Amino acid sequence: MSALEHARDRVRDAGGPELFERLEHLDAQRSVAPRDAAVAAPDRQATADYDVALVGGGLSIVYAPMLARLGLKTAVFERARAGTTHREWNASRRELSALTRAAVLSETDLEALIVARYERGFCQWFGGARHEVTDVLDHAVDAGALLRALRRHAEAAGVHFYDQHALRGHGAGPSAIALDFDHLGAPRRVTARLMIDARGASSPSCTTDLLCPTVGGVVTGIDVGGGPTQIDPKVGEILVSTEDVEAGRQHVWEAFPGRPGETTVYLFYYDRTERVGPHALMHLYARFFDTLPRYKTGAVRLARPTFGIIPGWSRLSPPPRRPSPRVVLVGDAAARQSPLTYCGFGATLRSFEGASRAIARALFDGPAALDRLDTVVDDTPLHAGTGALAHMIARPDGDPHALNALLDAAFGTLAAMGERPYQQLLRDEMSGADFVRFLHRTSRQFPAVYGSVFDVLGARGVSRWGAQVASGLLRNLGRS
Ligand SMILES: Cc1cc2nc3c(=O)[nH]c(=O)nc-3n(C[C@H](O)[C@H](O)[C@H](O)COP(=O)(O)OP(=O)(O)OC[C@H]3O[C@@H](n4cnc5c(N)ncnc54)[C@H](O)[C@@H]3O)c2cc1C
Repeated sequence: MSALEHARDRVRDAGGPELFERLEHLDAQRSVAPRDAAVAAPDRQATADYDVALVGGGLSIVYAPMLARLGLKTAVFERARAGTTHREWNASRRELSALTRAAVLSETDLEALIVARYERGFCQWFGGARHEVTDVLDHAVDAGALLRALRRHAEAAGVHFYDQHALRGHGAGPSAIALDFDHLGAPRRVTARLMIDARGASSPSCTTDLLCPTVGGVVTGIDVGGGPTQIDPKVGEILVSTEDVEAGRQHVWEAFPGRPGETTVYLFYYDRTERVGPHALMHLYARFFDTLPRYKTGAVRLARPTFGIIPGWSRLSPPPRRPSPRVVLVGDAAARQSPLTYCGFGATLRSFEGASRAIARALFDGPAALDRLDTVVDDTPLHAGTGALAHMIARPDGDPHALNALLDAAFGTLAAMGERPYQQLLRDEMSGADFVRFLHRTSRQFPAVYGSVFDVLGARGVSRWGAQVASGLLRNLGRS
């Protein structure tokens, strides 16, 4: 049996047929999803069935109870079952508090969803030091229970759910957008005043230049303790590499203790979109099983597979754009999260309340106001700077150890700058001035970085990056 077949069997046995179908669906796709079909647009007199059709019932289901509370007639359409997920999520307490501030969950609901808290976390690059940080990704959440709770709250607020409805096409008219779905082989048409595209990396609008295939899941049996191949239930392992670049990729591990005896372990790599072909996830699973013993020891068993392809936009290429003013992009489809950390959960928590309010205001103000909804989700100028670093991680040419050495120097610099800047970079809150200081101090420690940046981005890329950082800095200074 090949390593690939063996990996497939292990994932199917651990996850069951429904989860395995999700994996195969995601993995069969090319790096950019095929375009949606064009559908005849509703005419001016058409009355829409819904104010908002939220297409994609993953994490962005968090918009549904909020939109309903703002008085919008809302429906959620999902190709599988809305409010289920094949992920596990971590975030800081501050990010999670957005759920209670917006009153989509009560404090008691939120507390019940937190399965573990850590005293600290760390990043460590192969051959380098352990760089510790607190208050970052230090709360592990039961992702399945969170989405189920959000669906319950949305249903109670009057949201309609359409499971097993896969969007095939749409057409926008002067007063509404027509949406064609496939429901178990039968066509179904719905109209809405606005469609929210929340299909994640499967959205054809998600045309990012970077992707991060990620596999792993909840595992049991890792040896407990403070050694490098053991897991400490009080410590989150945020970014860890156990070897240099192999086969043109820098693989990175993550390990977050969960319920007693359980740890969520991921293996991922950053790559340029055009290099991520079909079956990327299954190949990565084969590597996960093969190389996990380099990272953690014990009688390790995969209890619940979790996986996905997270998009990253470096800000050095055109952004994901909505196809019409009657479509709004959110979540991974919009890809405004950090291209360095890919923390889409935290980014959605920061965005959903403000974006929902902007959508409600625009629908109230009339069709011309829909132009205001070009970018509704949170995007920070910091990403204009970190995008180039993400590109370097995605294209590790030359000396196979150079990237680990650079990342060790960069994280060492961050740790030396103090807890605050380190936390702020990982939580997308770093100021422009601190980011420039960070770049400057890293390049002093690691002068080869200039050559690497030039090799990866080329002269035009470097000047575009310089311009982005400068304009981001100015906007950032304006905000701080
Ligand atoms: C393994 C993994 C672990 C992660 N861990 C973290 C973390 O710890 N912290 C963090 O901040 N971020 C994390 N992320 C990132 C985070 O999960 C994503 O950013 C987030 O899920 C994006 O939400 P979304 O609603 O845009 O898309 P998704 O949650 O991916 O949901 C998209 C939904 O759209 C549906 N869909 C697709 N096509 C169609 C169609 N044609 N019609 C109808 N429905 C459709 C899909 O079935 C899916 O349910 C992780 C990602 C992965 C892959």
